[in-house]
Amino acid sequence: LLPVVVGVVALRRDPLHTIGFVLDNSARKELEQRKDDFISMASHELRNPLAALKMQIQLVRKRLERQSHHEAATALSRVEGPVKQLERLIGELLDVSKIQAGRLEYLQETVDLDALLHEVADTMQQLSTTHTIVVRGAAPRVLVGDKDRLGQVFTNLLSNAIKYSPGAETVEMDLSASEETVTVRVHDHGLGIPREQRDKIFERFYRVAGPKQKAIPGLGMGLYIVAEIVKHHGGTLTVDSAVGKGSTFTVTLPCKRDA
Ligand code: ADP
Repeated sequence: LLPVVVGVVALRRDPLHTIGFVLDNSARKELEQRKDDFISMASHELRNPLAALKMQIQLVRKRLERQSHHEAATALSRVEGPVKQLERLIGELLDVSKIQAGRLEYLQETVDLDALLHEVADTMQQLSTTHTIVVRGAAPRVLVGDKDRLGQVFTNLLSNAIKYSPGAETVEMDLSASEETVTVRVHDHGLGIPREQRDKIFERFYRVAGPKQKAIPGLGMGLYIVAEIVKHHGGTLTVDSAVGKGSTFTVTLPCKRDA
């Protein structure tokens, strides 16, 4: 009751200021809630690969004690997955904190976009046991920028396309180029994103609400980082989507004709 009374009294004194205060407050509450959700999800996401590592390490130790080297080697090879998962998570956490502090650093190198995009698609294809990545068109252009960071953009978009389209068989990456730009469209046949949440997915820690989306692991950092890298390179990032049908993420980057 007290906040209501205070609100009514404040509203009568200074209506515009009070409405601003109420909006401010609810935006702050939403961010607080998102941070709480993030911490709880992050703890789980970090704990799962650690538990897998712990189990495999115990297995290796037991097998080595019994001197069965081949089995020990097999068990040891299973730690690579969770180690990579932890590496990626911790890398993304660091990227987010660097972006927040304005300290994300970029190299300035000549990047062959066609080569980079095919390299990323090939690597993702090797990792995916569920989807075929179809690359169409070409991007015979170069730009000056950070090759690894740009690779991170397309790795992330392809990884999301695969992750959020369980049951689909393909994801497509369409490349096209004009005199001064390259456009890359990453297209999936998955869950889609409700219209009113489309802008929010680029915000830090935001994840689409809904049981199907929440059942898929993630922390809402990828697209925030992707948007930042694209912006740094002078490009644009947009999304088009139909719920239950799929999504298309479009990146356009300024570039030069391949010499
Ligand atoms: P994460 O996938 O780790 O949650 P991202 O920042 O990459 O974080 O994405 C933010 C949210 O946007 C995701 O939680 C998901 O709800 C939604 N999203 C991203 N890509 C797709 C996609 N291709 N299809 C459907 N939803 C997506």
